[in-house]
Amino acid sequence: MLKLKAKLFALALAGLAVAAPDGGALAQSKPTVGIAMPTKASARWIDDGNNIVKVLKERGYGTDLQYAEDDIPNQLSQVENMVTKGAKVLVIAAIDGTTLSDVLRQAKARGITVIAYDRLIRNTPSVDYYATFDNFQVGALQAQSIEQGLGLKEGKGPFNIELFGGSPDDNNAYFFYNGAMSVLQPYIDSGKLVVASRQTGMDKVSTLRWDGATAQSRMDNLLSAFYGRKRVDAVLSPYDGLSIGIISSLRGVGYGSASQPMPVISGQDAEVPSIKAMLRGEQYSTIFKDTRDLARVTVDMVDAVLGGKEVTVNDTKTYNNGVKVVPSYLLKPVVVDKSNWEKVLIDSGYYKRSQFN
Ligand code: BGC
Repeated sequence: MLKLKAKLFALALAGLAVAAPDGGALAQSKPTVGIAMPTKASARWIDDGNNIVKVLKERGYGTDLQYAEDDIPNQLSQVENMVTKGAKVLVIAAIDGTTLSDVLRQAKARGITVIAYDRLIRNTPSVDYYATFDNFQVGALQAQSIEQGLGLKEGKGPFNIELFGGSPDDNNAYFFYNGAMSVLQPYIDSGKLVVASRQTGMDKVSTLRWDGATAQSRMDNLLSAFYGRKRVDAVLSPYDGLSIGIISSLRGVGYGSASQPMPVISGQDAEVPSIKAMLRGEQYSTIFKDTRDLARVTVDMVDAVLGGKEVTVNDTKTYNNGVKVVPSYLLKPVVVDKSNWEKVLIDSGYYKRSQFN
C-alpha cells in the first residue's frame, strides 16, 4: 500500500513536472541552459527562442532565454550573467560573431559547453559545436530562384540586377553571398546579368546589422544614381527584412504596377509580412529554415553533451572560425515561392492559414 502511494506520488510529481506551464522549479530536473538570441525585431529569432525553450522544457531542462536587441555590449553582459548564474550549456546566436572571446574563455574555464546557434562564433577556441543550416546553399537557392524568375536558363536577358549582402560581422552573410554568386557570376561574366552600379563584393554590398532601413536607403541611392532611364529587373536580397526595405524604395519610384512590375526579389526566413508581399506579387521568393528542426538538433546536442554521449554532427570541414574547424550540424534550407508556400509553410503546421487572410 505504502509502496503504491509512493508510486502514485512519484507519478503525480512526474505529471506535474511535464504539465508545469512556465517550467518552474518542479519541471526542472536537469541543469539550466542559457540561450542568447540577437533580437526580437525579426520574427525568426522569436520562433527560434520559443522553440528551443519548448524542447528543452519538454526534456526537463531549466532555461534562461535572453534577447539583446542587436546591442553587442548587451549580449555580452547577458552571456556573462548566464555564466555567473551557473548555466551548464550556452546556446548563442551572436550579434557580432567576433566579440565574445573573453566571456567564452571564462565559460570554458567553468566547464561550460558552448554551442553556436545558426551563426558561427569566430576567432575563439571556446566554441564546441555549431548547429545551423547549409548557409552556402541558402545563397545558391536565392540565386537559383532569381535565375528561374528571370528565365535565365531559357536564355532570356540581358537583365539588370543589384546585389545586397547581410551584416559584415555575421559569418553567414559571406556564405549567403558566395553561394548566390556561385550561380550569378557566370551570368554576369557572360553579360546576361548586368550590375549597373558595378557594386559587387561584400565590401560594397553588405548591410550592417541586417537593417531594413539601411537597405532601403542604399536602394534609393542606387535607383537615383543608376536607374534614371533603366529598369532594375532583379535584386538579390539575403533576408526578408532587407527585402521589405528594398520593396518600399522601389515602390517609391513607381515599381509595383501593371506597367512597371516589381523586379524579381529574393529573401530569407519566410517571415509572415514577406509571404504576404509574395502573395501580392512584390517579393518573388524566400528561404524557409524550419526553426523547429534547428531547435531539435540543438537540444539533441545539449542532451548528448550532458549525458556524456557523442554529439551528432554531419559536417567537420566547412566552418573554420579562424582558430578551429567547428563540428557542425547543417540542416537543409527550402526555397519558397507562390507555387509551394502552402505545402511548405501551412501543411507542415509552421504557420496557420488564418495568418494570411
Ligand atoms: C540568419 C538568417 C537571418 C539573418 C538576419 C542570419 O544569421 O542565418 O536566417 O535572416 O541572420 O537575422
